[in-house]
Amino acid sequence: MSEHYTSSTESDLKYCPRCGRRTVHAVSSGRIGRCTEHQAPRLSQRQQRAADKRAAALVAPRLPGID
Ligand SMILES: [Zn+2]
Repeated sequence: MSEHYTSSTESDLKYCPRCGRRTVHAVSSGRIGRCTEHQAPRLSQRQQRAADKRAAALVAPRLPGID
């Protein structure tokens, strides 16, 4: 399977084990880089959702019944 790209290629779909699906990966200098669909590399998908919820809680007032 070929893994090289033209210089005009900026992204490509590739399976990301962390996201568990094919996601957009950055391509630079003809080589595919990391997945662009998750920001913190050490967070699992489940941890990412928790982090997103915490971030949302900072913006929105805390709602009853949601923890
Ligand atoms: Zn990913």
